[in-house]
Amino acid sequence: MQEQWLPISDIPVQGREFYFKDNQEWSGLWKELDPGYEISSDMNGVLTILPQKLGVFFKGSFKGRVSSPCFRCLEPGHIDIDHQFELFEDFDENREEHLGTGILKFENGHWMVNIRQVIREQLSLAIPDKILCSDECPGLCPVCGENINKSLCQCGSATGDPRLSVLQQLKVKKK
Ligand SMILES: [Zn+2]
Ligand SMILES: [Zn+2]
Repeated sequence: MQEQWLPISDIPVQGREFYFKDNQEWSGLWKELDPGYEISSDMNGVLTILPQKLGVFFKGSFKGRVSSPCFRCLEPGHIDIDHQFELFEDFDENREEHLGTGILKFENGHWMVNIRQVIREQLSLAIPDKILCSDECPGLCPVCGENINKSLCQCGSATGDPRLSVLQQLKVKKK
């Protein structure tokens, strides 16, 4: 997807607000993070960019609901996102490419900001490592791979340790 580099000099010193309401755009950002993410309610966000002497200050928030396959059983798990953030990007650090976060770059004598990268970075902070369909999800049967949420299989191991079932799941997938 296209990156949007905006010259910092286009942003007034008192700052500028950017609004994010386009679900297609949100969906694209989530899928860049992981193709399994789907938006399950409208997502809304706002980002304020404040140019400073030594860098750029960002502050913003976004809200919405996304789904992703449950870590244990692969059925859709939903997560409500309500994320607020503030961050400062230092010009000096971003001048050295290996230290930069991809948010700022210096080109032809101008500092540019990649707004998508600001949001993308925050999405990964807003989402938990493991999304579950429910906290109690027993996952898949470690023996036959049946989803224990839906039906008890014949193996009689339905009460097995769900962490084990995840390990088994990985083994099954490898075959
Ligand atoms: Zn589950
Ligand atoms: Zn089973």
